[in-house]
Amino acid sequence: MSGDAGATDTFRVQAMDSDASIDELEPDTPYLATVNGVVPYGIFVDVSESVSGLVHESTLSGNYEVGDTVVVELVAVHDDGDVAFDDIEVSDYEIVDQRSPPPEHTVADVTGDSGNVTLIGRVDQIKQTGGPTVITLNDGTGLLGCAAFEAAGVRAYPDIAQGDFVRITGEVSRHEGELQLEVETLTRVDDPAAVEKRLEERLAERAVPATVEPLIDWPALEAMWPSLESLAQRLRRMILENRPVRIRHHADGDGMCAAVPLELALERFAREVHDDPNAPRHLIRRSPAKAPFYELEDAVRDLNFALEDRARHGQRLPLVLMLDNGSTEEDVPAYRNLAHYDIPIAVVDHHHPDPDAVADLLDIHVNPYLHGEDYRITTGMLCVEVARLIDPAIGDDVRHVPAVAGLADRSEAEHMSAYIELAGTAGYDLEDLQAIGRALDYAAHWLKYRSGTGIVRDVLDVKGTGADHEAVRELLASGAEAAMNRQLEDAIAHVESQELANGATLHRLDLDAYTHRFEYPAPGKTTGAIHDQLAAEEAEPVITVGFGPDFAVLRSDGVVLDIPAMVDELDEALPGAGVSGGGHLVVGSIHFVRGRRDDVLSTLTEKMAAAEIDPELTSTADVPTPDS
Ligand code: MN
Repeated sequence: MSGDAGATDTFRVQAMDSDASIDELEPDTPYLATVNGVVPYGIFVDVSESVSGLVHESTLSGNYEVGDTVVVELVAVHDDGDVAFDDIEVSDYEIVDQRSPPPEHTVADVTGDSGNVTLIGRVDQIKQTGGPTVITLNDGTGLLGCAAFEAAGVRAYPDIAQGDFVRITGEVSRHEGELQLEVETLTRVDDPAAVEKRLEERLAERAVPATVEPLIDWPALEAMWPSLESLAQRLRRMILENRPVRIRHHADGDGMCAAVPLELALERFAREVHDDPNAPRHLIRRSPAKAPFYELEDAVRDLNFALEDRARHGQRLPLVLMLDNGSTEEDVPAYRNLAHYDIPIAVVDHHHPDPDAVADLLDIHVNPYLHGEDYRITTGMLCVEVARLIDPAIGDDVRHVPAVAGLADRSEAEHMSAYIELAGTAGYDLEDLQAIGRALDYAAHWLKYRSGTGIVRDVLDVKGTGADHEAVRELLASGAEAAMNRQLEDAIAHVESQELANGATLHRLDLDAYTHRFEYPAPGKTTGAIHDQLAAEEAEPVITVGFGPDFAVLRSDGVVLDIPAMVDELDEALPGAGVSGGGHLVVGSIHFVRGRRDDVLSTLTEKMAAAEIDPELTSTADVPTPDS
């Protein structure tokens, strides 16, 4: 076994090739030579066919005969071309051939027993520890931490930067169970383009997603398959290149059904790719987004963490993966912020997109609306497939997840029955699936800005903490139901209703006065639940507005609204009211300054009274409302 302290003490002697010239010799390097003449004033030695020289009697330390092997060091090359050597007395040494440095390995074939190896690839990360500088080398077959030691805490090879193509030789060993190479030499390669090409080919090959069939037979899903495959490929590529993936998902049932399987699949892939057991933790981070869009606050936080990780750990900047939100105009300020950095953005969403607003800012945009489909294909359904394309082995653990996602978002897809049937084969009946959705939503509410990985996985019943899934699920699901009933019972008596000029019914509720604030459900969901209950009791068209001191949440059925346009009009009509917000056409939220609330609400009512009635009575049951 190599790698112990003794092995590195072996004395190495260079054997030059027979055609080596004097220019190839370096000072302070022991060379293997042969005695070709013994004279009174010393011995003549050959280091190669053309390189011969004298070891002068005054420095000669041994007795030699012609034909003897001797170890020498270069002393001087005189002006007349004469070469002077010293001999070195050494009993035990290892001969290193001049033109055969340690054999080139690939990271994939290196083991703890590989001994001295040469690796060629790209520097993907440079991390300064309190001891050595750890350089992560990527050769396309894998990544290996290479420890270079200058002095404790001192940066070794300060002229080498992330992205450089290098040749590293050194001894492979196991360090705390992990393979590590102790760097002996590290140089930039002469042909970076060739090395990059080989790296690119290897990475591209390994990034190709698995061949899997969709979980259910659904032509709409098939149409979206190429875009799911390119996302899976991009995400695999991120892990292969040691680049983090920052997942931001809507903090609701569908959002978590999208994010958790993807997080799991990426973790598993990271474990497969990286020898470092901490790699999944460093590379994949998931956080909920409370708003139904990428808030500037979240984007700035993500950016801050990414820049800190880069400064502290030499980590590369992440890809941001937005799930179950991220398709609209409201996301643009956050995206523009990230656009100044090398942070690609990918989106999987099923909310009505504003492709014109976001197209230039996104690397990948997966959305059923871009394929002539709609919200009925939920984000959870899509992301379970992406997770399977990343790691097909995850399939068995997540078969029930698309059904949970669809039920949580009240998808009216006819293929819901196929998903529910599939979940049945995994042992979940309809009530179980609905309870999981409720429990996820309740957990998301109390987790606030935390990812809650353990709890969420227990509730979703995928690779959890080992807690009793059914008990956790039922506790949270019944808690959610009780809290919802309490909120509705106390609020609904205070709803004020009126008929608008266009025939629509308008329900208004003062959320601040008549709901339990900061309890479950939040204002957006409360307004939605009230809307659903009242809409079920009477004929459409109907609009529900829940308002607080400085915001209003809108839900509508059967009225042609364009909320983003209404926000613009209100802002223009009411200078100083600070109107902002948006959302989707028929559901959204509006913010304003407190002192102008009554003006904003009455102008809003006028606009709604003038809105057209939709002959097809568009339902908004699908669209999640903001939790402002
Ligand atoms: Mn959704």
